[in-house]
Amino acid sequence: MTTPSPTANVLSMTEVSAPNFDLNDEHRSLLEQMTRSARAHFSHDAAQRDLEGKWPENGFRRLADMGVLGASVPEQYGGAGFDLFSAGLVGQAIGRIDPAVSTSWQSHDNLCVNNLYQNGNEVQRRKYLPGLTDGSRVGAIGMTEPDAGSDALGGMATMAVRDGDSYVLNGGKTFITNGPIADVVLVYAKTAPERGKKGISAFIVEKSFAGFSASSPFDKMGIRASPTGALYFDDCRVPAENLVGAENNGIAVMMSGLDIERAFCSMMVLGMSERAVELSVEYAKSRHQFGRRIGDFQMIQSKLAEMYVGLETMRGIVYRALAMANAVGAGQAGRGEIHKLSAAAFMYAGETCMRICDEAVQIFGGSGFMRDTEVNQLYRSAKIQEIGGGTKEIRRLIIAREMLAD
Ligand SMILES: Cc1cc2nc3c(=O)[nH]c(=O)nc-3n(C[C@H](O)[C@H](O)[C@H](O)COP(=O)(O)OP(=O)(O)OC[C@H]3O[C@@H](n4cnc5c(N)ncnc54)[C@H](O)[C@@H]3O)c2cc1C
Repeated sequence: MTTPSPTANVLSMTEVSAPNFDLNDEHRSLLEQMTRSARAHFSHDAAQRDLEGKWPENGFRRLADMGVLGASVPEQYGGAGFDLFSAGLVGQAIGRIDPAVSTSWQSHDNLCVNNLYQNGNEVQRRKYLPGLTDGSRVGAIGMTEPDAGSDALGGMATMAVRDGDSYVLNGGKTFITNGPIADVVLVYAKTAPERGKKGISAFIVEKSFAGFSASSPFDKMGIRASPTGALYFDDCRVPAENLVGAENNGIAVMMSGLDIERAFCSMMVLGMSERAVELSVEYAKSRHQFGRRIGDFQMIQSKLAEMYVGLETMRGIVYRALAMANAVGAGQAGRGEIHKLSAAAFMYAGETCMRICDEAVQIFGGSGFMRDTEVNQLYRSAKIQEIGGGTKEIRRLIIAREMLAD
């Protein structure tokens, strides 16, 4: 009987390729290229825009110059033709430079444009995508209402009634990113209220449609340069051809979009957290007290170490969730593993970003409390990451519901 060589096992183990927990070279290079481009296009006026609460002049033209509009839409419609994961890296890159721009970009590009590409018919794609991908038109998504936030489906009161070859919309939406500047909005409305959540439909509404109007931008604590506002529908007539998907099937459009959104938006949160850690390390090295750099004090080191662990853990779950969303595609989102993991990634990212930014401000001391510092801007902008796209409480409900499902 021959004794197996002790190296045989080792060799067979090395033949099994190890899972890759990091970006490949192409992804890394895209992320760095996009970070440089976002810095060149947006960093010079970011602080001033944040203080004034103003969307950058020609903001969407600048994004078009970066080549990131319609990031996950094929080139035949004017998009960049990236897969969803690569498009998410764009969000991470812009998040490092300007969270407000990243927020408006992802609402336009993922929530509206990607959703239209995934769920729109060919006529709708050809009509709307080119303008949304060349920077001439701005997109938004309208789901939340004054009395329908976390219970967006159950509480929805906006109605769409069929009248000949159009639908007549009445009601209103609130807290809509890009609402005050949007040209095209993907709007959810009830078409069969008696059917509850199964009586909702999705519509493409143009700013120019009679009966549509939008508020001025709201005054927010963070992401101040991203315009958020209310939309009003007052006998707003929408051509029937602007119905997206089948009538009363809006829930499928919405739920698949929300999973993709949670995985996608976590990338911006990762970018913001990276920047907060980077600024903290720089400051810990340059600020001196008691004759030493503050980074020499163990309590500051402890903060930095915990920020690093949170950041790297976030990176793992966020990349994993987006890679899964990329693999399953929009058709299978809205249920099962991706529903759970995307909620988990967004929950972890949002809460950890908030903690990281809190410690970053602490490391900066009094300077961090000043509104015009970048670290203060990040801190104020982190809070929305626990609220928008489903609050941190709702993310927990989604995760637990999936865990307990039979
Ligand atoms: C800056 C900004 C941008 C936004 N952009 C958009 C957009 O582009 N499009 C869009 O449609 N919406 C948008 N929203 C809306 C956002 O998605 C909602 O604010 C969010 O879903 C929460 O709804 P709400 O504000 O009505 O809070 P509510 O639903 O009223 O919740 C209030 C509190 O109660 C908790 N709560 C509610 N229900 C439960 C429950 N069952 N169990 C435990 N706790 C619960 C919540 O977690 C929260 O803490 C945006 C919001 C903001 C602030």
